[in-house]
Amino acid sequence: MSTTAPPGNRLHGRFASELPELAVPWAAVEVAAPQLLVLNEGLAAELGLDPDYLRSPQGVRFLVGNEVPEGTTPVAQAYSGHQFGQHVPRLGDGRALLLGELLDAGGRPRDLHLKGSGPTPFSRGGDGLAAVGPMLREYVISEALHALGVPTTRSLAVVATGRAVRRETPLPGAVLARVASSHLRVGTFQYARSTGDTEVLRRLADHAVARHHPLAAGAENRYLALFEAVLSAQASLVAQWMLVGFVHGVMNTDNTTISGETIDYGPCAFLDAFDPATVFSSIDVQGRYAYGNQPVIAQWNLARFGEALIPLVHDDPEQAVALLTDALNGFPAQYSAAWTAGMRRKLGLGEHVDDDVATSVIGQVTSALVDGHVDHTAFFRRLTAAARGDDGPVRALLGDSTDWVERWQALEPAADVMAGVNPVYIPRNHLVEEALDAATAGDLGPFTALLDVLAQPYTERPGLERYEEAAPAGGAPFITYCGT
Ligand code: AMP
Ligand code: MG
Repeated sequence: MSTTAPPGNRLHGRFASELPELAVPWAAVEVAAPQLLVLNEGLAAELGLDPDYLRSPQGVRFLVGNEVPEGTTPVAQAYSGHQFGQHVPRLGDGRALLLGELLDAGGRPRDLHLKGSGPTPFSRGGDGLAAVGPMLREYVISEALHALGVPTTRSLAVVATGRAVRRETPLPGAVLARVASSHLRVGTFQYARSTGDTEVLRRLADHAVARHHPLAAGAENRYLALFEAVLSAQASLVAQWMLVGFVHGVMNTDNTTISGETIDYGPCAFLDAFDPATVFSSIDVQGRYAYGNQPVIAQWNLARFGEALIPLVHDDPEQAVALLTDALNGFPAQYSAAWTAGMRRKLGLGEHVDDDVATSVIGQVTSALVDGHVDHTAFFRRLTAAARGDDGPVRALLGDSTDWVERWQALEPAADVMAGVNPVYIPRNHLVEEALDAATAGDLGPFTALLDVLAQPYTERPGLERYEEAAPAGGAPFITYCGT
């Protein structure tokens, strides 16, 4: 394969051409000495991009936005959002650019997007830059979620800029190249609504229907159908987060996608010990985005989405609100159904187990997790072993809360089903920190080793025992900082 095949002729700018009101043409800041730190070859292949090209000097310049293929115009996207419940009318890509969209090997459009590519008209006093640690963090956690089977944006590459970024201390700078099925957010709709121009809003909604929820196009009320489709996608997404113990950490409406993909990895982390009140973010002092609050917050964000859609749903705003509210009220049942189905698989409860019995066992397991403050991932993995007859390890983890174990075993749980949904390896906080510290100091070894482990989360492999283990006891509680 050619080493200098630029992707230029394949990148198009559909978002920018259909929605110029929401796209500001902009250029990335020049990077004098870019150095490729990590490249996702599998994803490059999926996108039909030549890894040899991406590793070449020209390709690395492409990955930081300095080599712009002829005919493409990077844009900063406009959006607003509710951040921690407060409405911010103008957010937008303050340190990111959409290079364009390309069709992947399966014929699906994918956004190619840069994070840390310099200031834009949306920077609001920020420097537009990003540091190596947080960009590698997004890379490893997004790829881990993908391997777990949870919808998410993907990470194509991280390139060090060679320039220091000023945070509390100077940090090495980096640009992340990210891939998403789109970057349409609830906040994008809030922004379009705030323009007061219903035609812009309609064009955005039509773009979203065509791109993500084509079935809505045939509905009697296509914009209500769009709302319902996004609601279903978000209910399913958040259920999957809950089932793997993922805490997003900053579920603002600008970080809530229309596609139903996880986006914008900041202060996110996986649960160690099970506790619904778990918050990792240093700035989330009220616990708004705690693990156990995530479903309620998703519904709150969807309410903001519904408000933005009012003028499209019905000419009479009161009727529009009634229709949207009715749909919104369906969220808890949809979330619950997705979560319960997932818990059934985690516990190996097949169809022969009645709903009442399953619900009661799920309740007992959840209480045992809370009471025992048990490591979430280790618990379900040991339970898989218990389904195969070895219940010593899970009992050892549970302390006194074991009265349900025999009742569960009597239901003949399917160990193979459990093994396919209860991961052995997740990006444990202490391992991620260790890998990022080493990478920031110049050693990428632990980072690439961790990526390899997390690429097959459900396959137990000898020699990887330390990646399974919970954080050493007695350490300080894990905290992530928004200093991104
Ligand atoms: P996030 O918390 O990453 O979802 O970002 C929230 C908003 O802050 C978005 O509009 C970002 O573009 C903006 N932002 C975050 N960091 C920076 C930065 N260093 N410079 C400029 N804008 C930023
Ligand atoms: Mg964001």
